[in-house]
Amino acid sequence: MKKIGLILTLIIILPIAFLLYNEFEKLSKDEKVLEEIYNNQLQAILFSVNQYSEDVVRAAVNDIISGIESAKDQKSENDILNSIVNNNRKFSFIFIADSLEDNHLKFFFRNDFKISNPDSSDLSFKRVLLRHKDQIHKLYDYRNQGYRKIEPIDLDSSADQALLIFTGTNKHPGRIYGVVINPREFITEILSPRLQEVAKNEFIISVINPLTGYQYNSTKDFDKKPIQAQKPLWIFPDYNLGISLVGKSVQDLVQERAEDSFILIGILFIVLIAAVWFVYSAVNKELELAKAKADFVSNVSHELRTPLSLISMFAETLEMDRVKTEEKKKEYYSIISRESNRLGKIVNSILNFSKMEAGKRKFNFAEEDLNEIVIQIYQNYSYHLYNKGFDFEYEPGINIPKVMADREAVSEAVVNLIDNSVKYSTENKFIKITIGSEDRFVFIEISDKGIGISEKDQGKVFDKFYRVTSGLIHTTKGTGLGLTLVKQIMDAHKGRIILKSKSGEGSSFKLMFPSGS
Ligand code: ADP
Repeated sequence: MKKIGLILTLIIILPIAFLLYNEFEKLSKDEKVLEEIYNNQLQAILFSVNQYSEDVVRAAVNDIISGIESAKDQKSENDILNSIVNNNRKFSFIFIADSLEDNHLKFFFRNDFKISNPDSSDLSFKRVLLRHKDQIHKLYDYRNQGYRKIEPIDLDSSADQALLIFTGTNKHPGRIYGVVINPREFITEILSPRLQEVAKNEFIISVINPLTGYQYNSTKDFDKKPIQAQKPLWIFPDYNLGISLVGKSVQDLVQERAEDSFILIGILFIVLIAAVWFVYSAVNKELELAKAKADFVSNVSHELRTPLSLISMFAETLEMDRVKTEEKKKEYYSIISRESNRLGKIVNSILNFSKMEAGKRKFNFAEEDLNEIVIQIYQNYSYHLYNKGFDFEYEPGINIPKVMADREAVSEAVVNLIDNSVKYSTENKFIKITIGSEDRFVFIEISDKGIGISEKDQGKVFDKFYRVTSGLIHTTKGTGLGLTLVKQIMDAHKGRIILKSKSGEGSSFKLMFPSGS
């Protein structure tokens, strides 16, 4: 049985261990895959934001170029540029240098853009252009190949101005155009609706300037979640785009999933252990029952054989007229009668048991006074018990209510218990029957000072065929059905049995009948 238990446990433990290991493995793999997918997604979002800002700038630059191309004279070009710079809030101002050597840049300011000293801008932008002359030459090259590139130029960040340059139009191939943008204005007014649209409620997209600590978030109630992916913002090289998940981060989600998995595995483990325990105890019970049944067959055969051989032996002796004295004859007759009684009892208890098992036993319930039932038994048995050396006491119940009971079945139960007390008493031969009432029950208690029942066996003695397999049991006859019958009878009476016993000190069986009052 232990082996079966071990095998069952292994059958459960091994898959669970494998499952756990697998889950750990999968988790770290999943985590990596998830991170990768997530990062790709974040990168794609950042890319789309970058693309959008580039599109916005490119569209505005195209406006400038087509304006210049369509201008008939210098004045109309000035008007067009003034109108472009004032009609959208993308640019703070536009400037034009006729060439890298040009010392008089032309500025077109937005009306509300306040600049304290345009002349100094003139000089400073001239210097900027010279500083980036390599880049500008490259722009010319691109231009010659028919492609207009717009190049963001890194300005002194404290000015909070961003510059984008591009070169020549068809009319003025040598010109360098500069558009100056206020990044914060561009972010809050042009970029912000787009950021919100892309971020929806799932992400927070931020624009951050690590140098100044400036941070714009697509969602206002941003509670300083760590930014999970960053990318430089193309039009403003000083600025970065960042993205983070609203609420839970990927790590949180993976962690949560892991916790869920482990809780599930834990529950599964407990359920499986419970199942193993259940199967184990069911198998154990079945095995015990099978063993008890086998013992029962050998016990019963033995039980039947002894009285049968006694009866046939004494009957034969009498038949052959070998017994001379009347006294001896009487003795033999009484042995035959006693043994056939014993046989009858065994056969009856087996029949009753199988009837009960098949649910075929009929009970005739009537209002009964338990005192009357027990007095009858006491009268029938006391002589017999005194002869066997028993001290047999009876304490009737006073003013006890009548109960609904089957007289014959109750007698059978009490007689069974008395028989057991006789069988399982050694030196201290004492049996007492007490009748009384307690709460809503009337009880018959049969107690003895016999060998007692160990605590371990107390729960099992009412089981079918169960016999205690130590001590007296080897020498005492029995079928293991007596207490089962008593229990079946008490169940039919909707009653209970309270067993109190201590090894070596005696036992008491209290049959509790519901009194209904
Ligand atoms: P059996 O035919 O073996 O007596 P029972 O069902 O009547 O079967 O009893 C089951 C077991 O309970 C017995 O084998 C015995 O070990 C134990 N038992 C029953 N009554 C007593 C008692 N009064 N004192 C000690 N042990 C008892």
